[in-house]
Amino acid sequence: MRTPAFVPLATKATVRGLLPAEVAQLGYDIVLGNTFHLHLDPGDELVARRGGLHRFMAWDGPIVTDSGGFQVFSMGHGTVADEIKGRAPSGQQRAGRILAIAEEGVRYRSYVDGAERFMGPETSMEIQANLGADLALVFDECTPFHATRDYTARSTERTHRWLDRCLSWHAEHAPREQLVFGIVQGGVHEDLRVESTQAVAARGCDGIAIGGSLGAHKQQMYEVVGWATAALGDDPRPRHLLGIGEIDDLVAGVERGVDSFDCAMPTRLGRHGMALVPDPGARWRVDLTKSAQRESDEPLMDGCPCPACAIGWTRSYWRYMTRNRELTAMRMLTLHNLAFVERAVRRLREAIHAGTFRAAADALLAGAAP
Ligand SMILES: [Zn+2]
Repeated sequence: MRTPAFVPLATKATVRGLLPAEVAQLGYDIVLGNTFHLHLDPGDELVARRGGLHRFMAWDGPIVTDSGGFQVFSMGHGTVADEIKGRAPSGQQRAGRILAIAEEGVRYRSYVDGAERFMGPETSMEIQANLGADLALVFDECTPFHATRDYTARSTERTHRWLDRCLSWHAEHAPREQLVFGIVQGGVHEDLRVESTQAVAARGCDGIAIGGSLGAHKQQMYEVVGWATAALGDDPRPRHLLGIGEIDDLVAGVERGVDSFDCAMPTRLGRHGMALVPDPGARWRVDLTKSAQRESDEPLMDGCPCPACAIGWTRSYWRYMTRNRELTAMRMLTLHNLAFVERAVRRLREAIHAGTFRAAADALLAGAAP
């Protein structure tokens, strides 16, 4: 994998709307599948019987699978976005799904059929082995932003015990070539983050992922990521930042020594009628469904070399299409957004090799087109 790199999500064994060849043609080397969702539907054992996830979805490149911890715990804790926006998960979501968190693992109710299920460190690793992931992530508790320091400390210690269980299962049963990354937790507490980073780094993981709640706003997130990367020092193993991918966050992550990122943002925005554009003041996005675009003859993005922009549609047409939730529009916006992020990351990557990272980073942050 060329780094720094962005990893598009193929949550349910597809980068929604795109063909595997299109994802590769955009310049992506690797995609991320979701352990939790694929376990529930279609089932990792079914995927294993089809020859593994690569063959099932016809993707030849590497696949990373997350551990399912984030999804399992999101059911109980709600997401950071929910908290920040003061939006509680619906009663059913909070009450019905997560049943118990214990040392052994988590009991939860499946959103697919309502059945009671269990996921623990060994379960998660076994699912990822069945899927045939090239890179597995260990099972961790993703502590929410609102968790107390005491809860976060106890949870982080348990996550380290789960890390050991994941690694011993992996050493004995995982496919020989499968790599495994540990996950740093510790919430927004410096000492806990540093301890967690040291604990993960002390194990024989192939790489280190930074997960969990990174804070309520970007500056806090950068600080939290910086604690972890500083604690890693010159450890040569790859570092992955989980669930982060806005343009300024990519720049800040690379600055702090992060090698790879995954994020739902570019694909999810595309499905909701939003395009990435070089406009830092608007968080690099334009909402095409808004009335301001109704009679706009402007292109989606001036000079964009992506296949969607090559068609020549005006924003007026994009607005009409996105408001009607046309599949074509969602698909082409996904292409445009993933192409945009790929160019931004490639620009940073090439600048690092050329010794011009600062200039390239500043240009992106100032709104240069990637
Ligand atoms: Zn484009």
